[in-house]
Amino acid sequence: MSQNTIISRHTTSQGVVTWSRCVCGRLQMNMTSYDGKTLTAGGHAHCSSRISS
Ligand SMILES: [Zn+2]
Repeated sequence: MSQNTIISRHTTSQGVVTWSRCVCGRLQMNMTSYDGKTLTAGGHAHCSSRISS
């Protein structure tokens, strides 16, 4: 399995914030606002290029 592990998910006044841990151990934050936009913080390219399965 090469998927992020979801640590917590909670709603804010702006949208739904999801914290996840990457397969490499880094934290990643994802926010989906109520108008449909997605914002990601802490993302990193090294893992997506490494995952080839
Ligand atoms: Zn990673």
